[in-house]
Amino acid sequence: MLAHPRRDDDAVSTSSAPPETEDLEAVLQEVADQVRSAAEDGTVADYIPVLADADPSSFALVLSCLDGREFAVGDADQPFPIQSISKVLSLVLAARKSEATDGSGVADALWGRLGREPSGDPFNSLVQLEHERGIPRNPMINAGALVVDDILLDHCDDVPGDTLQLVERLVGEPVSFDEEVRNAERGTSHRNRALANLMADFDNLNHTVDEVLESYVAACALSLSTRQLARAFRFLANDGCDPGTGERILSASFARRCAAIMLTCGTYDAAGEFAYSVGLPCKSGVAGGIVALVPGWATIAVWSPPLDRTGNSVAGRLALDELAARLDLSIF
Ligand code: GLN
Repeated sequence: MLAHPRRDDDAVSTSSAPPETEDLEAVLQEVADQVRSAAEDGTVADYIPVLADADPSSFALVLSCLDGREFAVGDADQPFPIQSISKVLSLVLAARKSEATDGSGVADALWGRLGREPSGDPFNSLVQLEHERGIPRNPMINAGALVVDDILLDHCDDVPGDTLQLVERLVGEPVSFDEEVRNAERGTSHRNRALANLMADFDNLNHTVDEVLESYVAACALSLSTRQLARAFRFLANDGCDPGTGERILSASFARRCAAIMLTCGTYDAAGEFAYSVGLPCKSGVAGGIVALVPGWATIAVWSPPLDRTGNSVAGRLALDELAARLDLSIF
């Protein structure tokens, strides 16, 4: 039962702005207190020791408003590898690079080689890729991100370096890769290598499997705190413009399309459930982070390592569900 129920179903909303008067930090704290224990129902990712050793009781929840206000509870400044959340940033970088360098536009560069449909399959599944002749369903699953990395290799001398530069611009401070994660990912990427090999066989890679994987594992190892994660994504809730600096990062139309892809594909085979229960574009990662966009108002980032069977943070998902309900944030 919600402590702050949604508006009455038949009440007419007169504004899309969430309540500015509420003590938002107190709301975050109540949500955190309510959902934290649900982490006990999940399991931390264990395919590499550095993730298996994560403290399952870590928890952070941050609301970063476009007007500069920021509300944080829990371990908000503790860095963790953002893993698959980086797939959005790689897509953004690919869009920027392909627009900037050859003028052909992101549409030509990307959408001939990967789709924009939810997969309904686990993020690392090989099955669909074989049936669909090496064209990944979308850029939010592993196969799709590998194609995005292949495109980035056409445009960047140093894909990890350019990724870092973009993220540092967005968060306004230095960030880094977690080298232990990067090395461990390198050593265990058998399934990602299989995905890349399958796509190479279908002529959907221009660079070697090793080059593509090297860019991919670096992105997985990008280490951000929950606070930095929330900040980094604000431009996507602001039609492509960084609200801190006023810098245009992406065109408004592509920023909206990134949000659409996050909504439909960002949480893998739980995307329908997230859209139904949270009602916001979200992207999750296997280290337990999730970032959500509240278009025109804010971003929300949450971190709690234990995952459900779809690879999404159990307590993170509940926190978003509860916060979106209390503040009436659904985009629908
Ligand atoms: N490193 C993980 C992998 O490549 C990332 C997946 C995720 O965060 N969902 O499978």
